[in-house]
Amino acid sequence: MGAGGFPLADPTAHPDLVGLGTRRTTLEWVLRSRALAEPAITLRPGVVVTDLLWRRAGSVPQVVGVRTREHGTIRSTLVLDASGRRSLLPRWLRSAGVELAETGHDCELVAYSRFFRLRDGVQVPQMQRGNATVAVLDGFGCYAFLADARTIGIAVGRHPFDLHLAGLRHASFFDAVVGSLPPVAALVDPSHSEPISDVAAMGGLRNVLRDPLRAGSAQVHGLHAIGDALCMTNPAFGRGLSMALQHAAAVTDGVSAEPDRPDRQADLIARRLSRLTRPVWADTVAHDAERSYRWRQTVHAALGAVPAPRAVSMPTALRAAAADRRIGLRLLRAIHLLDSPSQFFDDEALAAAITGLDAPELPSVGSRAAALAAGHAVLTGRV
Ligand SMILES: Cc1cc2nc3c(=O)[nH]c(=O)nc-3n(C[C@H](O)[C@H](O)[C@H](O)COP(=O)(O)OP(=O)(O)OC[C@H]3O[C@@H](n4cnc5c(N)ncnc54)[C@H](O)[C@@H]3O)c2cc1C
Repeated sequence: MGAGGFPLADPTAHPDLVGLGTRRTTLEWVLRSRALAEPAITLRPGVVVTDLLWRRAGSVPQVVGVRTREHGTIRSTLVLDASGRRSLLPRWLRSAGVELAETGHDCELVAYSRFFRLRDGVQVPQMQRGNATVAVLDGFGCYAFLADARTIGIAVGRHPFDLHLAGLRHASFFDAVVGSLPPVAALVDPSHSEPISDVAAMGGLRNVLRDPLRAGSAQVHGLHAIGDALCMTNPAFGRGLSMALQHAAAVTDGVSAEPDRPDRQADLIARRLSRLTRPVWADTVAHDAERSYRWRQTVHAALGAVPAPRAVSMPTALRAAAADRRIGLRLLRAIHLLDSPSQFFDDEALAAAITGLDAPELPSVGSRAAALAAGHAVLTGRV
């Protein structure tokens, strides 16, 4: 099999696999400037949609615009709900008698993140996997991402029951834990970088899937939920933007294909959105269940049902990817949705190839015991 190393180390080798290393605020700022420069787009910042406008034509309710808090009503032939994870769509639809089928699974993850900026003169570090370095340990994981303007985002995830790591919300504990992990320690070394944010904590993360279809047809006409309003997946997989862009493309394709028939247009788009999201959501739920089962073992929590095995588990995939460049490429394509995740994680032939792979031992990413000791030493004032 091929040489080790992750494919994104050479971004020119795979032009359709480009890692975007940026803080979210920077990306949104750039996108906003582009939208402002488009003559066909009118931005109304700060305007809040409070409800949908309905017309009942036939058996399927049709959305004909929105009601806003600031600007009264805005009529439109097509409304997209891109209002994200807190979308009020279920409530709005219920007011028109439409019950949106929704399935949710707890990610069983509490995430903490902090930004650092490299000090002047310090070279931008080489990351293990293109723009990221990952350290997955017993019961928790740490991810470092190169971002814009010499910044680095560091995220640490723990199981909600893992109270030994609850101190991560404190900057000193966070820095000590990250500093104990060899692959990322140098990134937070005060001689290399300085923190430019506090630690942000996020819990209650869920994988949520909303089904735009009922009995194979769109539940409403003239309205589509896209992005997180349609499907939310664990942010640790970095799939949200890829999915939102796929959703946007599904809408534009559907409008072009059926510009004059709202019923056919709605069905076409809703079916495509459903086909795009369901497998990604199911894949993410399966990985979360497998990880969460392992992490529960670490903290001796009740285990619940044994997760259904995949042909290739995520830990196996990561080990194989580090040893074999072609597997690394396939893994990235599956994680970032250029291929269907199932093409990788449910591929028995790939599983067999990985079993026969002569993968070298990976360098140590540190230990849970050392990370806990470092964190608690700071909290108890021993360093
Ligand atoms: C901690 C974290 C890290 C992540 N990291 C990654 C990553 O590395 N890669 C990746 O691809 N994805 C990542 N994601 C996921 C990604 O952020 C989302 O999938 C993506 O932002 C979804 O885009 P969206 O447009 O659907 O929703 P959002 O980006 O949430 O935008 C929704 C917008 O709608 C506005 N809005 C809400 N309600 C109303 C209303 N009633 N009226 C008017 N406006 C309204 C909101 O103010 C907001 O501006 C991460 C998510 C989190 C939480």
